[in-house]
Amino acid sequence: MQAPTISATAEQASAAPDAIEKTPVASPAAPGAGMRSLVGLTRAGLSAALAEADVPERELRMRVAQIHHWIYHRGAKDFSEMLNVSKHLRARLEQAYTLARPEVVSEQISRDGTRKWLMRMPSTGPHDKGAEIETVYIPDSSRGTLCISSQVGCTLNCSFCHTGTQKLVRNLTSAEIVAQLMVARDQLGDWPGQERPVDNLLPSGERAVSNIVLMGMGEPLYNFENVRDAMEVAADGDGLTISRRRITLSTSGVVPEIRRAGEEIGSMLAISLHAVRNDLRDELVPLNKKYPIHELLDACRNYPGISNARRVTFEYVMLDGINDSDADARELVRLLRGMPAKINLIPFNPWPGTKYKCSDWERIERFSEIIFRAGYASPVRTPRGRDILAACGQLKSETEKLRARARLMQESGIGAEGIYGASSSDDD
Ligand code: SF4
Repeated sequence: MQAPTISATAEQASAAPDAIEKTPVASPAAPGAGMRSLVGLTRAGLSAALAEADVPERELRMRVAQIHHWIYHRGAKDFSEMLNVSKHLRARLEQAYTLARPEVVSEQISRDGTRKWLMRMPSTGPHDKGAEIETVYIPDSSRGTLCISSQVGCTLNCSFCHTGTQKLVRNLTSAEIVAQLMVARDQLGDWPGQERPVDNLLPSGERAVSNIVLMGMGEPLYNFENVRDAMEVAADGDGLTISRRRITLSTSGVVPEIRRAGEEIGSMLAISLHAVRNDLRDELVPLNKKYPIHELLDACRNYPGISNARRVTFEYVMLDGINDSDADARELVRLLRGMPAKINLIPFNPWPGTKYKCSDWERIERFSEIIFRAGYASPVRTPRGRDILAACGQLKSETEKLRARARLMQESGIGAEGIYGASSSDDD
């Protein structure tokens, strides 16, 4: 999916450091060997876990409410913090479970305040080192948006997207999807009573993370149940409390699941459109061969809850000489006629090896003006986090890049240890 781009304020830009910070982060709470973390579980999952720890049936509801509050409202990292839970139960939980988060392998902070974390999920078996994924945080003056991944890699191979060049490794579990939000709030000091980083790069609002977009690695509608359950945890009013209107699910167009997403997830909908003709969209977003533009737009028109207050967002990446003509803009307006919609124009973020270039600024402005005159909001998104490869379509795990580079160096006779031991210039 295309990650969002939100303008930085002038104060943020001027307060931003010159250089990119790139910090390897040691995991403060690596999961206990073989022990399962309760972090990320739904209420039903917590209930099952407590039942396994012999909590009597009659107490389950109350205990789930207590533990849910400590994990998702307070951000507890240790059972000893749960003061209204009996000592006996705390001890039992400590023997059976952890409150560990995924390991944060590295944190990168862009000049514009965008932060990218490379996270390693707990190993699922003796031959699994743990899946690695990237999560991006984009602050604005009054809100902070977390761009969450739903899969490790992606099957869809959109030709403009860096993530699409990484093969699908697996779907993330609902707990792993929620855990990205937990880690972000840990890193940003976004729990009651905690201090935020003092780099002037965070929004001024009460919450550092106020919005979620499912636009990181992967196609969320190909991992439907896990995404649905994770968003249930994120939106729970007694826990993480991110309103469903502040959650946007971005799909490349898995038509059969769009209606269901509206009914069961209830988030805002964004479509990775990028072209107005099927022949071109077949190339940019190959899923179009299965679900062509008219079927996709029909599904959008019938999205549950669509209204002027809940418009569908169409993401349109601006590719020089490919999809950026006046005729394309006029056709876009014609296709969307009558639908409550807005169009986000995204200057293409280049990545190594891509064949595309970003449209020039005059072209983007002209395209935007045609859409705007037809009555649609058509903001041009300022690219965010380009310097740390965190912008739209640029996500791809660091390890994959390192491995590719290791291969190249081995082929040219240089040992791989030189790369893994090197300081860190892997932003290329
Ligand atoms: S390849 Fe397509 S569906 Fe997959 S992450 Fe990239 S834009 Fe999204």
